Amino acid sequence: MKTRFPLDQFQKLETPFYYYDVDLLNKTLDEVSSLARQYGFRVHYALKANSNVPILRRISSRGYGADCVSGYEVRRALETGFNPSDIVFAGVGKADWEIEFGLDNGISCFNSESIQELEVINEIAGRKGVKAPIALRINPHVDARTHHYITTGIEENKFGINPWDWDKVIKCIGRSANLDWQGLHFHIGSQITDIDVFKGLCSRINEIQAWFACNMFTPKIINVGGGLGIDYSKPDGDGTDFKTYFEIFSQHLDLQYGQEVHFEPGRALVAQSGSLISKVLYIKEGVKTRFAILDAGMTELIRPALYQAFHLIENLTSDRKELLYDVVGPICESSDCFGKAVNLPETRRGDLIAIRSAGAYGETMSSNYNLREKVKTWYSDEIISNEQSTHTPSGKQVG
Ligand SMILES: *Cc1c(COP(=O)(O)O)cnc(C)c1O
Repeated sequence: MKTRFPLDQFQKLETPFYYYDVDLLNKTLDEVSSLARQYGFRVHYALKANSNVPILRRISSRGYGADCVSGYEVRRALETGFNPSDIVFAGVGKADWEIEFGLDNGISCFNSESIQELEVINEIAGRKGVKAPIALRINPHVDARTHHYITTGIEENKFGINPWDWDKVIKCIGRSANLDWQGLHFHIGSQITDIDVFKGLCSRINEIQAWFACNMFTPKIINVGGGLGIDYSKPDGDGTDFKTYFEIFSQHLDLQYGQEVHFEPGRALVAQSGSLISKVLYIKEGVKTRFAILDAGMTELIRPALYQAFHLIENLTSDRKELLYDVVGPICESSDCFGKAVNLPETRRGDLIAIRSAGAYGETMSSNYNLREKVKTWYSDEIISNEQSTHTPSGKQVG
């Protein structure tokens, strides 16, 4: 039986719900910001991993910047205390209103991925009489060796500007009076656990920035993106090795005098702090398989259904003998399965189940499929300090 969760409190709450360990979140945020300061790196948190207001406030108050991929995220970042001059805006398809919104709010950089988009940004900025700060998102053709749905830096990907277009791009910037070129941006994928991949990225960046420098484009900013993976099998473990990660970039990037290095971690900052807590509705015996049917499903956490992602699953309320279960949700899709052949203590209706490491790409990817409603969110500090009833949840997510 697991004791890290406030089980007495959990028993009183309506399930399913998301639960965040605020101490762990704070510890991770403090560790990363202090390491980044040591190396002189700048960190922009990628909002799409988790954009809950209380979490974003914790991140912005520690001096992080924000990496946004939609106008809505830019708006959320502004609302939660991020400085406009610390907000960058990436994405392969920015709509005109999103570009206008970014310019009107004076964000620090548009990470742009195509000549056509550069032309549109230039035109809109011209109309507004401002200069648009831009960086070029480069496709470095580095394989992140992760799931193909979350690989973004190889040739056949929709992301980034390919080498055969670099000539045209610098000509485009040269003739665009309203673009203010800041530097180069790279983001090769997500949940990267092979740390050597980042060494490969560094040597590609060195080559690429040399090419740009030869063409009179010396970047002020090198933005290496995010993608650092976590160990989903160890949600209670020592955590992610941020020191080695930063060390690699410090050792392997050839930097020019005065250049800034920017990072955009999302998952690694927030994933381990979140769990999806669910109740067992039914146990169903198949021919060869025993199913534990939960009240949470792919509508709350789609990662297993979408990319066969692994999450550690724990029964919080049983210490009976272990059996094998397929742990599934109630949604009318066969892919609505959190884990196959999972070892759990004998599980019964009413048991509480924790799906761990769900703090990143959990709530932000949730949906209303089957007309399900968004679940509540609880934070450890509130749950422990309040003996509130389940009907007036002060920990309910704002916005
Ligand atoms: C998603 C994304 C990130 C964050 O990725 P993680 O794997 O969560 O660290 C960073 N930068 C860009 C441009 C992204 O799209």
